[in-house]
Amino acid sequence: IDKINKALEDDRCFWSFEYFPPKTQQGVMNLYDRIERMCNLGPLFIDVTWRWGGKSSDLTLELCSNSQTVYGVEANMHMTCTNTNFDLIRSALEKAKDQGVQNILALRGDLPDNSVEFDPEVGEFKYATDLVRYIRKTYGDFFCISVAGYPEGCLGPDDVDCDIRYLKEKQDAGADLIITQLFYDVDNYLAWIDKCRAAGITIPILPGIMPIQNYGGFKRMTDLCRISVPQAIWDRLEPIKDDDQAVKDYGIEVAVDMISRLRDAGVRGFHFYTINLERSTRMVLERLQLVPTVHEVRPLPWSPSLNEKRA
Ligand code: FAD
Repeated sequence: IDKINKALEDDRCFWSFEYFPPKTQQGVMNLYDRIERMCNLGPLFIDVTWRWGGKSSDLTLELCSNSQTVYGVEANMHMTCTNTNFDLIRSALEKAKDQGVQNILALRGDLPDNSVEFDPEVGEFKYATDLVRYIRKTYGDFFCISVAGYPEGCLGPDDVDCDIRYLKEKQDAGADLIITQLFYDVDNYLAWIDKCRAAGITIPILPGIMPIQNYGGFKRMTDLCRISVPQAIWDRLEPIKDDDQAVKDYGIEVAVDMISRLRDAGVRGFHFYTINLERSTRMVLERLQLVPTVHEVRPLPWSPSLNEKRA
């Protein structure tokens, strides 16, 4: 959080990259290569997600810890708490502390399916706030704690005001930073920021940016997370939806436009949902002239993109 505060104080733009733990050993090796290359883009920190119930807890921590020691980049470890064995959470926090991982994104997590309610027998924590409180009480200021924010409501638009009240509770419980859900409606995001500030939320808020990678994935993700997409974006996607390269190029254009508008409104930090891919994030930062441009070898039309081939 000190690095973020310093960048904000200096009125300097900064960015962070989110990755998820791959399922295979080869995927893990590829991800390490990618993180190393993407560290050349100067992220202020990287995030690694955590699979529901702590199923990836060791790998999440390993990716964070190795990225810090090998590539020298600060890492933020995600941790979900609902319906999760308390000993697993306690031990993951202890290991993070021992390995010098000092940043935790404290989350509730999703319930395994809609029919399963919070089970107090399995977990100690019902909401993300409970985890934030526990970490602060147990570890004092050792960890920088970030939490999730939802510009379009965690459960949808009717939930926005209520959500802001609970977001303030997360700040009061000790959170240092908010990272938002991805979004594509910049005006709505800026109005939500105003509402958060009016509700007494003073900690930094980083907008979640996910460059569109392919039409099917984009549609699924925005439906699943209940993200509203401006009609103009759907209109531009419709004629190119079967051309993956054209969709990726348009996705870069959308992200560049969003970040430019956010910068004009005074936003300085940007959190990229990379989905473990490199090219779009790099191209966005290059187009914005935030990093030097690297000469790019365009893939031949009949071969998969050089980057994606390694995924
Ligand atoms: P909470 O802040 O606990 O809120 C959950 C819901 O409960 C909200 O509707 C809120 O309004 C309500 N609520 C909160 N407090 C109270 C209260 N005291 N009383 C009544 N209602 C309350 N999921 C993963 O499994 N792994 C990840 O790594 C991961 N990373 C994420 C990163 C980001 C930046 C974001 C935005 C989400 C991520 N998620 C991840 C998804 C997240 O776990 C889900 O969206 C989950 O449904 C909500 O988590 P939360 O921490 O926001 O929950």
